[in-house]
Amino acid sequence: MGSSDSIPKSPTWDLDSVFPGGSDSVEYAEFRNQIKNDLNSAVEQFKNLPEKLDDSSRPAWIGYINKLQELSDRLSQAHAFVECLVSADVNDTKARQIFGEIDVFNSEFEKIKVLMESFAKNQPDDQWEKLVTGDELKDCRFYLNEMRRIAAMKMEPEFEALAAELAVNGYHAWNRLYDKMYGDLRVEFTENGKTEKLSVGQLANKMISPDRDIRKQAFEKLEGAWETRATEASMALNYQAGFRLSLYERRKWDSPLTEPLLMSRTKKETLDAMWSAVAKAEPKIKQYIDAKKKLLGIKNYRWYDQSAPVGASGKKYSFEEASDLIVGNIAAFNKDQADFTRMALDKRWVEAEDRSGKGGGAFCTSFRAAKQSRVMMTFSGTFDSLSTLAHELGHAYHQWLRRDMPYFAAGSPMTLSETASIFNEFLITDSELNKTDNPDEKLMFLDMNLQNAANLFCNLHSRFIFDNAFYAERKKGLVSRERLDELMIEAQKKAFMGTLADDGYHPLFWASKLHFFLTDVPFYNYPYTFGYLFAGGVYNRAKEEGPSFADKYIKLLSGTGRGTSEQIAMEHMGVDLTEEDFWLESVNRVMSDVEPFVKLVGDAK
Ligand SMILES: [Zn+2]
Repeated sequence: MGSSDSIPKSPTWDLDSVFPGGSDSVEYAEFRNQIKNDLNSAVEQFKNLPEKLDDSSRPAWIGYINKLQELSDRLSQAHAFVECLVSADVNDTKARQIFGEIDVFNSEFEKIKVLMESFAKNQPDDQWEKLVTGDELKDCRFYLNEMRRIAAMKMEPEFEALAAELAVNGYHAWNRLYDKMYGDLRVEFTENGKTEKLSVGQLANKMISPDRDIRKQAFEKLEGAWETRATEASMALNYQAGFRLSLYERRKWDSPLTEPLLMSRTKKETLDAMWSAVAKAEPKIKQYIDAKKKLLGIKNYRWYDQSAPVGASGKKYSFEEASDLIVGNIAAFNKDQADFTRMALDKRWVEAEDRSGKGGGAFCTSFRAAKQSRVMMTFSGTFDSLSTLAHELGHAYHQWLRRDMPYFAAGSPMTLSETASIFNEFLITDSELNKTDNPDEKLMFLDMNLQNAANLFCNLHSRFIFDNAFYAERKKGLVSRERLDELMIEAQKKAFMGTLADDGYHPLFWASKLHFFLTDVPFYNYPYTFGYLFAGGVYNRAKEEGPSFADKYIKLLSGTGRGTSEQIAMEHMGVDLTEEDFWLESVNRVMSDVEPFVKLVGDAK
């Protein structure tokens, strides 16, 4: 922090117009109280509904489902609001209490969902079809059908309920234990003759230093720190994977990809097509890394060189300049989005001030009942900050387009939820890159694009390959710590396309990356690459078709909750995601930056 000294103060957000008074708000307390009562009565009402769906009971069920959706809108708003309070002031203890209250609401709601699943599963096809195709629920048809289909793939509801209950202190507990280890790890780090204790998160910041010695030290300290926890980490990984595999066996799911693919509403063939297109980037990735090595003056490209910054920009943006730039670029493509973005900024939906006591990171969340969104970030005036602002405002627009939709139609699989946000990033980077004649700035922008792509094509791919290999071996028994290291190196060899030097791998990556331990989202790696390439494909079309694409863009974003990834791509762009073409086009788009990058490096030498 303190990096934004040279620009005017950035604005804070308005939360009072939703619930005045922050965590002490009387209105907010009443809102939560109403949710609590409605959750209780929803369970009672379910018990009183006719068990069989037929022509006479259908209206009652429609009414009930709509009630659940309205309740979901409010529940998600209650959650979003406290999320905002906590992030704006990490010391707000009252808000932390409220968080706990809402966690209980959420688990109550999960129980109602289990009841709904068992109801859906037990109805005859023809009656179910009548329910979901009627006027009242047709927008939620996809969601309801999916719920019914997945319910049929699971164990009997009482077994599922038991498994979910045991998972709290079993499966998810391994994740909690890992998080605790991660949070507690400290290493001694020496910089400018000063030694201090750093957390793993702080070490990660050192890995983006322009000074290679700093990056090297950070990496070695990271490996060293995890070396002392490798046995515990391998136990956590093995046992949580064992839990999942037992559950899958009971459900008769033969692949560990079944669950992640259901969650991302995507087919295996689509992932295969995507990775196969990524593999075709190999010659370009190699050219890029070779040029970057030249620029950095290094012979061996190692793990800790992945985020080495090059080029420079002394440019600082005030929040107002950043806002104007974003709105201006969006306006050239989509007037509706430009108007929305201006409105969100004017109504102070963005918390951007650089001050202490705020949470880190950035997010966008929606108040579904109030039909508004809020963006949380710390604006520092750098291009990175500008890009984050654009990214989060993209999320806000995506939410805005779905504000009038019923809750069950307004979701989005994680493969498509980054479409508008990454699209905005592309728009802003392109515009700034085209504007500058300064070779150092050009180099910086091009490298940012390529570094990002290399990360998604190589680093994220290595995680996907590792997860697959690990689960295949875990099926046969526990996988030793040494074997995990081996599998990790093999995965990196394959995914990094031979760019990493023999002494440049990160064997303990499986321990140091928290994503491998996330029990809520298994295989949380490919969605990043998917989201990026999907947004790139959409961006390609927007550039080809110009402003006339805006209508299609709006329809696509509005519809992300009403189909599978493949269905949505086909419906709105006429492309088949199980084929390589669409992905390859998107890969080639970013790889077209390699040539100018290589040329600039040549000129600079
Ligand atoms: Zn995002």
